[in-house]
Amino acid sequence: MKAIVYDAPRKFEFRDIPVPKIQPNEILLRVHACGLCGTDLHVHEGEFGPRFPLTPGHEFSGEIVELGSEVTGLKQGQRATASTTMACGKCFYCKRGDFLECENLDGIGVEINGAFAEYIKLRADLVFPIEKLSTRESVMVEPTACAVHGMQTLAMKPASRVLLFGAGPTGQVLAQLLKLNGASHLTVAAPAGPKLDLIARLAADEVVPINRKDPEVHRRGLQEVSANGFDYVIEATGSTDLLQDAIRFTRRRGTIMVYAVYPDRAIARITPADIMRRELTIKGSFAQIDCFPRALDYLESGKVKVDEIVTHEVPLRDYQKALDLAFAREGIKIAITP
Ligand SMILES: [Zn+2]
Ligand SMILES: [Zn+2]
Repeated sequence: MKAIVYDAPRKFEFRDIPVPKIQPNEILLRVHACGLCGTDLHVHEGEFGPRFPLTPGHEFSGEIVELGSEVTGLKQGQRATASTTMACGKCFYCKRGDFLECENLDGIGVEINGAFAEYIKLRADLVFPIEKLSTRESVMVEPTACAVHGMQTLAMKPASRVLLFGAGPTGQVLAQLLKLNGASHLTVAAPAGPKLDLIARLAADEVVPINRKDPEVHRRGLQEVSANGFDYVIEATGSTDLLQDAIRFTRRRGTIMVYAVYPDRAIARITPADIMRRELTIKGSFAQIDCFPRALDYLESGKVKVDEIVTHEVPLRDYQKALDLAFAREGIKIAITP
């Protein structure tokens, strides 16, 4: 089969490799599409500890073509997707039931071969059948699951004023979930352009364009929207400057959630006296491990809309072109098709 294989950071090939052989508890999926994610760009640079040789890709769907002898409840020909994080079950955190905090957490597309390939083998207990979603929509199941986990982490009180920095693919989903789960008012701040326009149509009560050259412009804009700040502020851009803005615009007793993927060595400055005096809470949200069923409920019911988020489809052989588009911040979500 054809696959993208990395032998080292930035060194990949569109290569012929054997179709994976499945174990009795695994299935083989023929990949229909796999979304390109910020994580894949970090893996490209060798960040997040990828295990080479590696095929990345963790936002996929396809068709089940082979079932291991022990697999029950799944059928050949069924369309499906899969959760991509696997806990060891043995470490300090697993023994406490905190599986996402597993010290040996394996992720498909980072430590284990992913779906930028014609086929992927998967542990059957991670697989979830898809009914109504189109192939295009199905690349958004994993990002939606991560956003559901984010909502759970945020544990938002009803009738809250919320500010979201960022309008990337997960931002688009998170914005919809915020409106479905108790935000009385949602403001989104992101650079002007198609992403900000889409989030305004999908969920935001108003949008404030971010001005990177003169941040005072968007700061004034946010001040005008809510003179007393926001109950919850979510940083989903990966900019440490905006994380500082996020803290600044959080109300007394409010919560900041660090949701973006930052470079490994990024550092932000915070003022402890301010955190203490205003009784602020800072939370982090990372990936997901148990949110696929809820994500699929939101998507299959049409409550969360993702069709317009997938703006590009690129054939697997043109992986470099997809990377170029992503690094140039073109479009919103790019789907790669074998
Ligand atoms: Zn992702
Ligand atoms: Zn563990």
